[in-house]
Amino acid sequence: MIQIPKEVYRNFLRFALENANPLEKSRKWRECIGLILGRINGESVNVTDIVPIGSGSSVFVDISDYEKVFSLISFDRIDQGEVIVGWAHTHPGLGLFFSGTDIQTQLTYQSMHSLSFGLVLDPTKIDSQSPGFNIYRVDSSTSRPYTVDFLFTEKFNFFSVYNQLTKELFDLEVPIPEMIPELTAKNTLVWKNITLSLEGPAEVPLNERFYIKLLLKTPHPQFFRVTYKVKIYNATLDYMEEFTNNQEYFHESFDPGTLAVFSLIASNTNRIFLQLIDLKVTDYNQRYLDSPALGFESQPRSEMSNL
Ligand SMILES: [Zn+2]
Repeated sequence: MIQIPKEVYRNFLRFALENANPLEKSRKWRECIGLILGRINGESVNVTDIVPIGSGSSVFVDISDYEKVFSLISFDRIDQGEVIVGWAHTHPGLGLFFSGTDIQTQLTYQSMHSLSFGLVLDPTKIDSQSPGFNIYRVDSSTSRPYTVDFLFTEKFNFFSVYNQLTKELFDLEVPIPEMIPELTAKNTLVWKNITLSLEGPAEVPLNERFYIKLLLKTPHPQFFRVTYKVKIYNATLDYMEEFTNNQEYFHESFDPGTLAVFSLIASNTNRIFLQLIDLKVTDYNQRYLDSPALGFESQPRSEMSNL
């Protein structure tokens, strides 16, 4: 298992954001690269630092350039058992994947130590539950990259760290999305013989309209009343629709089927959440259920790149 301290993540994210200011156009963003130091114990790797190496429009580390690399790492540290355990680089706004060049670089690292790994960070992918990076190794017989599990040495909210850094660096405050617990399993709610569900596309194109439907199913027509508020993250409600964030809506009817259609446009490359909160379902006996939030998640379609 690979273990990463929060401070190491924070420092590399700071370096990444210094080269990809969210207030500037993404074409001005630059990729960054760093060397990952750590200690190896059997099969586990404890990361101790990511040392920034450089940034630019086309970044790669020539690891044969030892003089440059080692001038950045104090020899005291190597005496204390820290070794180069991998490399980290950024794909600002481009998504998390390993390109052909990345695969070749990684194979060079793995030829030095089989546990070496490559970390790819895209700051635009950070939310409260995702640190915005993946760790990869490459299968040397097929040259295919695969993701490797990692742990943080402490629990924290990734988006809060991102937000603190953008405030420090650019005086930019981004509202922190609330934690949306176990969302994926919660797009259907069953209560007695009433089933409420949110349905929509798992992947959506950027800047194009898409729809999420709220459906109610019953075995036969019966009275129901459904009230809720709508919360949306990383998408805007299309202007054609009358829905607004946090306003209370209700549907009262005997006819099951589609209760509402939310028309949305993805506003950035982060995961999109639509959540119905303060949800209450009432049946003909006036019995009602105060439901947990009902949520739906979509993933913006990532644009491939040959970086
Ligand atoms: Zn890359």
